[in-house]
Amino acid sequence: MVRSEASVAVGEEISVHPPKRFLFGPGPSQVHPRVYQAMAQPVVGHLDAYFFEISTGIKQRLCKVFGTQNELTFVISGTGSAGMETAITNFVDADTKAVVLASGYFCDRMSEMAKRQGAEVVRFEKPWGEYFGDAEAAEFIHREKPKVVMYVTAETSTGVFQRGEAICKAAHEVGAVVIADCVTSLGAMPVEVDKTGIDVAYSCTQKGLSCPPGLAPITVSPHAAELLKQRTKQCRSWYFDIGLIADYLMVSHRYHHTASATMFYALYEALSLIEEEGLENRWERHRQAHLHFVKQVEARGLQMLVPEGHRIWNLNTPRIPEGVDDAKVRATLLKEHGIEIAGGFGPLAGKIFRIGLMGPLATTEHVNEFLTYFGDALGKAR
Ligand SMILES: *Cc1c(COP(=O)(O)O)cnc(C)c1O
Repeated sequence: MVRSEASVAVGEEISVHPPKRFLFGPGPSQVHPRVYQAMAQPVVGHLDAYFFEISTGIKQRLCKVFGTQNELTFVISGTGSAGMETAITNFVDADTKAVVLASGYFCDRMSEMAKRQGAEVVRFEKPWGEYFGDAEAAEFIHREKPKVVMYVTAETSTGVFQRGEAICKAAHEVGAVVIADCVTSLGAMPVEVDKTGIDVAYSCTQKGLSCPPGLAPITVSPHAAELLKQRTKQCRSWYFDIGLIADYLMVSHRYHHTASATMFYALYEALSLIEEEGLENRWERHRQAHLHFVKQVEARGLQMLVPEGHRIWNLNTPRIPEGVDDAKVRATLLKEHGIEIAGGFGPLAGKIFRIGLMGPLATTEHVNEFLTYFGDALGKAR
């Protein structure tokens, strides 16, 4: 074969030249060079034995990162929202009563998806940026007696980390399954699916896992898997039908869709990096970077939106100081230093910055470097 897997010929150059960016936003997060290298490897077919070797390796590594023994652990071809859609379309039907603990943008997206399934959605609503206490969450669930309970572990629109033990316990007491959004938390903070009692947890590649966007890891408890088996009606979505996808990836290896070998390589490499570092060490690195960040911004007079003990480690939301134009701050950082951060949106527009410290950027050194430029940009934006 002629140049079938050839390297780029001498004198030949690729035509894509993205600007250099430091991704300190809420996602996508900074990608490790080894992940990029993995992505440059030749594509194999979606039914190739090597592809399934990689997907099996991904499953084993994902179970550790999710903190689960669930057999039904795999990845959806799509972004985090595809994980959300998969969880909801398989477990929420037209006659399902679903409770959503809602205090941010992504809980709203869950509600919207459940409504589109025709479900009866009952929301326990709080203002954006608040969290749910154990007792009040349990009381609401006991009163409503839903079939499904949904919550977001790390609400990226506000910076709140929601504890799940009491939610899961109450849900199980009324016979409900729990769907938890672990999109931002997975890989950077403890998710611990089995210990918490989550039935269906989904995530994405481009936040806590520090991969490019493109895949959505998902895990399903044995109890929830049993419910899938007992379904009398077919899942409304063909592409996101868990039974069909799991059969392709883990059982028959028969064609369902053309999964991207490139993205599977990326995730495999990102999970290998986590394994080499040690999951607990990685959590601790993110925690330390977060604590250092908070201490330093508070010393500069900024206040965090979320009370201590309820903050996401890898996504920080300091309030914008009085008299500061946050769009200007973001523009300065991007134009002068290639640093991307985000502002708030919805009810928090103009009120907070959203600053991600994820993956390779979650170190004290990077936080210090970031703060130098951030301080400078704040000064210019008054
Ligand atoms: C980013 C995000 C999503 C959606 O993921 P996409 O990859 O953008 O589709 C869902 N939930 C949370 C909490 C997120 O932060």
